[in-house]
Formats: sequence, C-alpha cells, structure tokens
Amino acid sequence: MKINSIEEINLKNQFVFLRLDLNVPLKNGQITDDSRIRAALPTLKYVLDHAKGVVVASHLGRPKGKPVGDMSLEPVAAELAELTGKEVVFYSEYMQESYDQLLRSLKSNQFIVLENLRFHPEEEANGDKLTEKLLKGIDVYVNDAFGTLHRAHASISGVPDKLPKARKACGFLVRDEVDALSSLQKKSQAPYTVVIGGAKVKDKIQIILELITQCNHLIIGGAMAYSFLKFQGHSVGKSMVSDEQSELVKMILENAEKRKVTVHTPIDHIGAEQFAADAQPVNCELDIPSHLMGLDIGPKSVELFSQVIQSSKTVFWNGPMGVFEWDNFSHGTKAVAEAISLCKGTTVVGGGDSAAAINQLGIDTSLFSHISTGGGASLEYLEGKVLPGIRSLEN
Ligand code: AMP
Repeated sequence: MKINSIEEINLKNQFVFLRLDLNVPLKNGQITDDSRIRAALPTLKYVLDHAKGVVVASHLGRPKGKPVGDMSLEPVAAELAELTGKEVVFYSEYMQESYDQLLRSLKSNQFIVLENLRFHPEEEANGDKLTEKLLKGIDVYVNDAFGTLHRAHASISGVPDKLPKARKACGFLVRDEVDALSSLQKKSQAPYTVVIGGAKVKDKIQIILELITQCNHLIIGGAMAYSFLKFQGHSVGKSMVSDEQSELVKMILENAEKRKVTVHTPIDHIGAEQFAADAQPVNCELDIPSHLMGLDIGPKSVELFSQVIQSSKTVFWNGPMGVFEWDNFSHGTKAVAEAISLCKGTTVVGGGDSAAAINQLGIDTSLFSHISTGGGASLEYLEGKVLPGIRSLEN
C-alpha cells in the first residue's frame, strides 16, 4: 500500500485530527444502529493511547451546509465518551474560533469531538476557510472514514493535502478495506464470479464493465436482470425495466463475450401483481406473464447461481437478488448470500444494500472474507478510480 497506516507514523506528543465515519442513523435523538461507531473504535482507541491531543470529526446525514437539530453529532459524542471511558469536549464553534487553544488545554482523559462538518457548506465544497480552521494546531491527520473516501471534501482532501506524507495516515478500517479490495483486484483466483443485483443497470454499468475484465462468471439478479431478459427476447411482464437500459445491456453482453465471461441470468422468478410488501408471491418460469412483475429470483435460479458460486475460488457480491426488504421476496437474496458465505474461496461483499441484507437476514458475517463498510467508495475503488481520500494520503 502506498499510504501510511497509523502504526507507521509517529503519534507521540502529536496533536491529531481524526476523520471518522460516524454517520449513524438517529431517531428522536437516539442512535438506532451504532455499528459505524463500533467499527471506528479500534482506530480511535489507538490514537487516544498514542497521541497528545485528539480532535474527532465526522459528517452525519445531509444537512446541506446548515445546522439541522436532528443531525447533530452530540448523541454520537456521548456514546464515544461511554465506549472509550473518556470525557468528550463537544465543540461547535470551530468556524468562528479555531480549537487550537482548546486542544492544548485538554486534560489527559479528554478529547474533542466536533459538531457535524456538513453543517458548513465549505466541507462539501472543500473550501479553504474550513480547511485552514481544521488545520490550525494539528500535527498529524488520520483518516478512517472509508465510506467517504470517494468525496473530495475539506476534511477528506483539503486538510491532508496541506500536510507532508510523514504526517498523515489511514486508520485500521481504511487499511483493511484497501487491503481486501486491492487483493480482489490484483490477486483474485479463478474461477472468479461477480454477483450483481439491485435496481438499475445504469447505476452499476461502470463497475460491471470493469469487473468483466477480471472475472470468469457474471451473475445478474435483482430488477436489473429483467433488462437483460427483455433484451434477450423474454417477456418480463410488469417488471421494473426501462428502455434506456437496453443499450447498456448490449454493451455488457458484447464485452462479456469478447472476454469469454459467462453471463448467468435468472431462469425463474417470484412474481407479484403489485409492488407491495403484502403482495401474494407467485412462482413464474423464465417468461413472466403480462399481469405480473418479478420481485425475486426463483428456486431454480437459486440452485443455478449457488452451483456457480460454490465452484468459485473468488466471489464479489453487490446488490440484492430481489426486494429483500420484504419477507416474501427476500428468499433469493438470502439463499445467494448463504451460498456465498459457504464458498471456500475469497468472498467479498461490496457494502451498501448487500451488507444491509446480510445483517437483516441474519447471516453469519464471520463467514465472509470481507464485508465492505462503504458502498459507493468500494465500487469506485473497484472501478479502478483513485479515491480522493486515498490520493490525499499518498503524497
Ligand atoms: P441498488 O441500490 O441498485 O443495489 O438497489 C437495491 C434495491 O433494489 C433494493 O431496495 C431492492 O428492493 C431493489 N430491488 C431488487 N430487486 C428488485 C426487483 N425485482 N424489483 C424492484 N426492486 C428491486
């Protein structure tokens, strides 16, 4: 890896700015899922143990550049205090007055947590004023916010761009993500199967075209499978397809043929008359009758896909096989996730909805080689893009 990890740089007697991804869901001021906070703890504890003073910063939600009461990081700061056993000094005024003095006056059991960075338009615009404020009094910059590395924001790019390489590093979460994704890219063993699902071909066209250059099998499920089936002349009833997708499907199939990648699409489906959680599930063969829409892959597709997955040495999965949020249409996603979890090879899950599906469907997460914490960031990484947050740590 071309970037430093925190163990490779000197933190002793240093004042550290630590960018974390503490973007947790809140309801009435209560954190409803603290997994991001827990994922950030190893790095936070390491930095607290080694540095002289620490400022923790993150975004939460999309407040669009102004303070929004229910997107405050205050409840997160309280949980960080509890989980670290330290006292948190919560600081909101950093655009008016730098935390420089405050940082130097901290007691040994205290650290600073800043209010939501996105309360200021300069964060997303990567503005100089915010960058300067955040830099003041800082010796070292550490980034462990993997899910935000694809955004060139002030706290992701602006601050580290102003520091020399010896004074910036990634945390453990970013290190593990980059290690897993880069070995998938460079050292994947054949047969390598890519499983893609979800709603739209358009959203995933880049990643599919890139992965076709590396894999041997491409499994397509979810709503996007209907665009493939329609293109191949099958009837898809009322399933979610749009005509603009057919050009993209053509491009994918042509590329796959050139690269000798076998494309697998569903051979049966679970359909319904309407798009509703309580809709009656109906088993359909390959062609879907005109009064039905496909909302999940059927049992024969599960068997076909599972066989391909089981005989693979590397599997990458992104996107559900159906509307997994609804019980009646979650079986295909669950069965494919289980097949991936049982595969003996390297198995990587590309964040977002697929990671949510694994949690929601109660599948043992320890059975996967790696589950990414960042949907957008992991896809952009695998597309071969250099993420702004990584570029800013590189030089
Ligand atoms: P994406 O963000 O592209 O990975 O899409 C995930 C979403 O696609 C989930 O919310 C699923 O409910 C939805 N989805 C998957 N399969 C279908 C389907 N057959 N019809 C409609 N929506 C679907």
